[in-house]
Amino acid sequence: MDTLDKLKEEMEKDVSLPLRSANLVFGEGSAKADVLFIGEAPGANEDQQGRPFVGRAGKLLDTLIEEIGWKRETVYITNIVKRRPPQNRDPLPKEIEAYKPYLERQIEIIDPKIIVPLGRFAMAYFIDDGKISRDHGNIFYWRDRLVMPVYHPAAILRRRSLMDDMKEAFHKLPKLVKEHSSLLNKKKTLQGEE
Ligand code: URA
Repeated sequence: MDTLDKLKEEMEKDVSLPLRSANLVFGEGSAKADVLFIGEAPGANEDQQGRPFVGRAGKLLDTLIEEIGWKRETVYITNIVKRRPPQNRDPLPKEIEAYKPYLERQIEIIDPKIIVPLGRFAMAYFIDDGKISRDHGNIFYWRDRLVMPVYHPAAILRRRSLMDDMKEAFHKLPKLVKEHSSLLNKKKTLQGEE
């Protein structure tokens, strides 16, 4: 059976992956999480600790999760690209491509009800022609899952005026988890009528 531990081991051994001089930041949280948060790529703090979202943006993410009555350990947090690009530059398309099979398997194993891409970069993985200023907090369907993109927590640190919108989106999550089956069924019914 594919497990997160096995997948992580495989990734550590995979010499074909780019950015191998940085540490692997595989992701952490509950393997049975209902909600999977996905950022862009690790930064310096994450590279040092081998854990996702542990810097200032991570602290904010923790606060937002706690505000809705959840704990960080009950969700799962990872990134599209699982090693830090030099000088925190944006990941290159070929890096995203190289890490993709691992992200896909991580999603399959965790089998989350809702995926929450953090920021426009992660959003672009799931939603074509998305625009974070327009689409944050909106619900999308992606391969029989719900996806709700939100701003990147680092963007909130730069622009505090976005905080209210961010909180509003997070407050939708508990209800979405509860209603996710009926939302997916509704989608199937609508498709059947097309
Ligand atoms: N920003 C990200 O996108 N991911 C992290 O893990 C930390 C900061």
